[in-house]
Amino acid sequence: MIVLLASTNRHKLVELAAALAPSGIELVDPRSIGGLPPVEEDAPDFAGNARKKARSAARASGLWSLADDSGLEVDALGGEPGVRSARFSGPGANDASNNRLLLERLAGVPPERRGARFVCVLCLARPDRTIAAEARGEARGRILEAPRGAAGFGYDPLLQFDEPGQPGFGSTYAELTQEQKNQVSHRGRAVAALRELLRETTLRE
Ligand code: IMP
Repeated sequence: MIVLLASTNRHKLVELAAALAPSGIELVDPRSIGGLPPVEEDAPDFAGNARKKARSAARASGLWSLADDSGLEVDALGGEPGVRSARFSGPGANDASNNRLLLERLAGVPPERRGARFVCVLCLARPDRTIAAEARGEARGRILEAPRGAAGFGYDPLLQFDEPGQPGFGSTYAELTQEQKNQVSHRGRAVAALRELLRETTLRE
């Protein structure tokens, strides 16, 4: 099954392609079909934005389209940056400026109040723009006072994964291999849930 990824984020493409390959899903980079129209990510939650991106990509391409909307919710910031994770530090934001701002906003907050979670919602739209499946994954951790690790992207070096008993416990995602991250990450968990749904429904349609 060929599915268009409704995102130009190369990191998402790499992670999702690896996680979906065992289900026989081949993810297509939108650049290979000349790109996609921009989508304003103005929904109040991850699911709303994921639906918007998946449906817009399906309309533009006529292909099955998968969107990922994801981000970081920090307890001490009332769930910020949330859906604004990519744009947290304002116009021209990038991973480095977002991470810097996050550390500034948490300056002086003690370790026990630095809890946070990564959230990912995946939405799969059919070529006719109807939604075939939607899945969510979360992973909890703690925001460090300084970055650790060089792999991954976004806020990966700042969140220490702290779910007891899980592989990768005590590491940041930036200290894990891609395969290890996919096993326990919000995105890996959303993919697992999506694969389950696809096994049950979409592939029979
Ligand atoms: P989106 O492209 O609007 O979904 O924004 C996603 C943003 O959330 C990224 O730019 C990162 O800042 C953050 N994010 C999402 N997933 C991850 C992840 O796996 N690791 C680190 N940061 C992530």
